[in-house]
Amino acid sequence: MLIGALAPILISRQVGLVDDTIVVHAEGAAEGVACPTCDQVSRRVHGRYQRRLVDLPWHGRPVRLVVTVRSFRCENPQCRRATFVEDFGNALPRRARRTREATQYLARLAAEVGGEAGARRAVVEGLPASPDTLLRLSREDTDASAPGDDYGASGGSAARV
Ligand SMILES: [Zn+2]
Repeated sequence: MLIGALAPILISRQVGLVDDTIVVHAEGAAEGVACPTCDQVSRRVHGRYQRRLVDLPWHGRPVRLVVTVRSFRCENPQCRRATFVEDFGNALPRRARRTREATQYLARLAAEVGGEAGARRAVVEGLPASPDTLLRLSREDTDASAPGDDYGASGGSAARV
């Protein structure tokens, strides 16, 4: 179920249909995660919370991703950090409410037909967003493709089917 940039970092545990929406439950694929302070890999899960993101529609149905994010306890006694949250990097930025593919799609839509028409089409296609959001994403997308960004560093686009 998970393809593209998310495929190497997430494992889907459950896929279901809620009303007309495809809901994919997923969690981090890595058994252990490196502490951002000391770099030591920890497997000691401290807690879990859920993030909900909008993904690209599939066969005309909206797709919602429910990602269980783990926090880990650093096991290095010399480290000043007690706990940390696993980080999915560019493929799933921390505060994002959409997957990167969904964001890029909306940005392209805004660039092609503008914010108002783009927003109407996005709703029909199962990816609702306001005209303002579309225009903002379109601007950010232009900024993100500037030289020096590491957007393609995960190799996600090359792995898409
Ligand atoms: Zn540490």
